[in-house]
Amino acid sequence: MILRKPETEEKYGRHKITEVFMRECMLCRALPLQSFRFWKIIKNDFPYDMIADVHHMLIPMRHVAESELTDDERAEFDEIKNSYLEMHYDGIYENMSKGKTIPAHAHIHLWVFKTSL
Ligand SMILES: [Zn+2]
Repeated sequence: MILRKPETEEKYGRHKITEVFMRECMLCRALPLQSFRFWKIIKNDFPYDMIADVHHMLIPMRHVAESELTDDERAEFDEIKNSYLEMHYDGIYENMSKGKTIPAHAHIHLWVFKTSL
């Protein structure tokens, strides 16, 4: 499935081979649009702009994989999903392991779908 416009895909391809991408976690560095106790919402700089008008990501404050989340972090995720995400987005999405570019830092994609395709 083609999720990014060709120009966005090209920009992402160029970014993935930069030294800064390989050296630092871009999710840890991202400024929050919204902060919770254990989670933050950040902008996706390389959005799936073929399908979404808004593409943010929900990530834990800590640099941890999904399997390393604590019970408190999981509980807050459920709260955020059922309140904040429900109000602001059309859908959430998580890549399976083989599709994850940054598996070391858990991230859930948040979308407002395009109103026109
Ligand atoms: Zn990170």
